[in-house]
Amino acid sequence: MRIFLAMLSHETNTFSNVPTDRAQFEARDLSYGGEIVETYRGTGTCLGGMIAAAERLGMALLPSVAASASPAGLVTRDIYQHVKQRMLTDLRAAGRLDGVLLDLHGAMVPEGVDDGEGDIITAVRQAVGPDVPIAVTLDFHGNLGEGMIAGADLLHGYKTYPHVDMAERGVEAAERLTQVIAGRLKPTAAWRKPPLMPPLGRQGTTRGPMRRLYDLADEMERDPKVISVSLFAGFPYADIPDAGLGIYVVTDDDKALAERLADRLARVAWEHRHEFIHTALPVKDAVANALAADGRPIVLADMADNTGGGAAGDGTEILRELLRVGARSATVACIWDAAAVQACVKAGVGASVTLDVGGKVDDRHGAPVRMTGVVRTLSDGRFIHRGPMMNGLPGRLGATAVLDANDIKVILISYRWQTLDPEMIRFVGIDPLREKILVVKSTIHYRAAFEPIAKEIIEVDAPGLSSSNLARFEYRRVRRPIFPLDPDTVYEPD
Ligand SMILES: [Zn+2]
Repeated sequence: MRIFLAMLSHETNTFSNVPTDRAQFEARDLSYGGEIVETYRGTGTCLGGMIAAAERLGMALLPSVAASASPAGLVTRDIYQHVKQRMLTDLRAAGRLDGVLLDLHGAMVPEGVDDGEGDIITAVRQAVGPDVPIAVTLDFHGNLGEGMIAGADLLHGYKTYPHVDMAERGVEAAERLTQVIAGRLKPTAAWRKPPLMPPLGRQGTTRGPMRRLYDLADEMERDPKVISVSLFAGFPYADIPDAGLGIYVVTDDDKALAERLADRLARVAWEHRHEFIHTALPVKDAVANALAADGRPIVLADMADNTGGGAAGDGTEILRELLRVGARSATVACIWDAAAVQACVKAGVGASVTLDVGGKVDDRHGAPVRMTGVVRTLSDGRFIHRGPMMNGLPGRLGATAVLDANDIKVILISYRWQTLDPEMIRFVGIDPLREKILVVKSTIHYRAAFEPIAKEIIEVDAPGLSSSNLARFEYRRVRRPIFPLDPDTVYEPD
């Protein structure tokens, strides 16, 4: 079996003024050909799962391009066209193919294209013709759209948030693709988009409304006629018509069953829509509660400054409050401020510096904070993910410095990355278990690795572009009415 393999992954926050250009991809991943297999083999990623399954199933993989960048603003036209053309050129050169495996996101918005994945899948379908099956893995935050469904035979969305099942979905996509190639499955899909746009903070799948929906989906998947059920919570910070919850059911040649199950899921999601409303503590109360709490570490989740949701990663409001109250034994992980890192590098380890830290990207993550502290450590920012997410995958934070102001330590990084792994704190020489307060910039993902070590978790309502308070955003393009932006939205599922 000759299987084409490619990855293009970006979650686009259209409210961000940070363009996602070639440099942003180069900072994370922009690789080609056989190098892709070497990088991802054995990792907890979709590609890792696809590669493992391919080797087991005797597929000959034809790897083309793997491109991903930290979530931020629109993907620039040139890098998007570059990756797309590379895929199409490699497809033309590939000769006869039995199938295509794509690892995409679902919430990518290139300049001038609302539905990036729909555009890619459509182009790949045109290149391979109608008879070569295409299986795609998509992020749980994908904003499901018609282009994706029309062009692909199989979509496999992650079923977890925190995303701990990426490798599993990669394996599943490869295995199902083999069955389609062998003529043993005939994928027949139904999909629904109820007018519902869940904020990030209530999308977690360990509890709450998404758990309820996935319990139901798991039950549906026990039917041998059901190939898979994907529930996309959607990405509410991409202001495009398709933003919001998506339901996708694929059966083995049973259209009526797919439609019936999709209807049922849409109805249950809608009935429980109010459970998606999220509230968090104001900064002052959150810090006061953390200081008063027993034990350690107390995790303060800066949910709205999640670079994984396209926020700047340089939000300062919690740091400002920690400094104001004179907290001790606190670590802020991390603040994206390459200029501050360079000032620390110039001063050297052990030097005292006064810097304006963070708050520089825009006016939506707090103002810069003037801070005097000692440069504790400097590093090249390379670490290995050791938590349940992306286990084994190398991480790159670029030049990294720890600035310590009377035991409030700020990890300053040069590449944006979400605080989803305590290793990001450990590798700079700070033991997360010994800190009283850990500030993490993450909405939900941090829970996979931090819940087991945290004495307590406090969700904070600081400003930022991944805020779960959707009233903070000026929507122009999302379809209306939609809940919760329009609380009186009417929807009558079948
Ligand atoms: Zn996601």
